[in-house]
Amino acid sequence: MERFDVAVIGGGIVGLSTAYHLAQRGVGRIVLLEKEDELAAHQTGRNSGVIHSGIYYKPGSLKAINCVSGRSELVDFCEREDLPFDMCGKVIVATDEEEEARLQIIFERGQANGVACSWLSGGALKEYEPHVRGRCAVHVEDAGIADYGAVSRRIGQRSVELGVDVRKGHAVLNLKPEQDGVIVNTDRGDITAGLVVNCAGLHSDRIARMGGVEPGLRIVPFRGHYHKLAPEAEHLCRTLIYPVPNPAYPFLGVHFTRMVRGGVECGPNALLAFAREGYRIPQVSIKDMSDYLAYSGFRRLMRDHWKQGVHEFACAVSRSRYVRELQKLIPAVRKEHLLPAPSGIRAQAVMPDGSMADDFLILERPRQIHVCNAPSPAATAGLRIGSTIADRVTASQAA
Ligand SMILES: Cc1cc2nc3c(=O)[nH]c(=O)nc-3n(C[C@H](O)[C@H](O)[C@H](O)COP(=O)(O)OP(=O)(O)OC[C@H]3O[C@@H](n4cnc5c(N)ncnc54)[C@H](O)[C@@H]3O)c2cc1C
Repeated sequence: MERFDVAVIGGGIVGLSTAYHLAQRGVGRIVLLEKEDELAAHQTGRNSGVIHSGIYYKPGSLKAINCVSGRSELVDFCEREDLPFDMCGKVIVATDEEEEARLQIIFERGQANGVACSWLSGGALKEYEPHVRGRCAVHVEDAGIADYGAVSRRIGQRSVELGVDVRKGHAVLNLKPEQDGVIVNTDRGDITAGLVVNCAGLHSDRIARMGGVEPGLRIVPFRGHYHKLAPEAEHLCRTLIYPVPNPAYPFLGVHFTRMVRGGVECGPNALLAFAREGYRIPQVSIKDMSDYLAYSGFRRLMRDHWKQGVHEFACAVSRSRYVRELQKLIPAVRKEHLLPAPSGIRAQAVMPDGSMADDFLILERPRQIHVCNAPSPAATAGLRIGSTIADRVTASQAA
């Protein structure tokens, strides 16, 4: 059986960046196993493409720390590798008094996290985004856009050059922990590894359980549907326009995003998905659905948040309602401006008490590391998360 020092599971930005940083530190033989024939086929290649500033996150949280430093690493990487990015800035817009109070808290968090941002009156907002209606806003200079699929593929290429064995089309089916390593059972045969790093996104909880590790949570898939603005409406959005998020949820609300390769997208909503990789609405996986329906944490989540669930469903099935959401920010948007665009699915960890895990979660066990919750802003923070994991591995090897 082939033996590796480290097997990384998952070819999204977190797994790729982990393998890249491990290889840079000379951590022996590394293999990266990705079940799809392409890298970045799931969350990493199906997101809003926003470089987050770190303004939203609780100071001191893993999200705040990794987003702020990860953003700088990402920008440096894009510059060095000549990949497209644009630190175009963004506005977060309050439309009423209640949102203004919540925006004030976000503004203070941004300042505590060292994010370059400034408070705008409704009039000053018009200078940045003339078509937006708002009572006031925060302008965030440290935000931008990138192509995370391209970034990830380049990290993969650099990893291969550093000696990482990147194996696409290799699905991990099981893990068998042994005395001196872990046997990794894939659909193309078995390998052994001294250490397994699980960066499997939507399937990370299942991979942890395969290794005999109970992560104490379950991944629940939340679909995010996007629309593209028709070319004649693209002028309505200059940069990135966000609402004030509802603090009860880890999602940022439907926003307008200028894409780094051109065009403007709006979305994503946050609708419970019927399959972990069910990108089209009718796609159903009995296995995935029974997984969450049988979970008491999910039932508690539904009991506490069913009204929001109904609202999201109504906006998803009715274009008029979706447009009304968008018109809160840009009144000139019309139904006929919305063209279809691909959707993404978030891997959201739900805890047994029904709460949605707010921070990144990385579990360490002997010979296993499991990244169990890496939702937004983990694309922005991906390079940083990878280097943090690599540091932990080299520190434990040295001990
Ligand atoms: C709709 C949406 C919008 C978002 N917007 C933003 C944004 O603008 N900015 C931002 O910073 N973040 C954003 N995010 C979050 C960000 O995309 C994710 O946090 C990040 O991509 C997570 O990367 P990952 O590598 O952990 O997961 P993924 O990209 O999902 O990668 C996991 C990989 O593991 C593989 N895998 C799974 N199971 C197995 C197995 N058994 N064997 C082998 N391989 C396996 C999968 O095929 C997949 O390629 C968004 C996410 C979504 C869904």
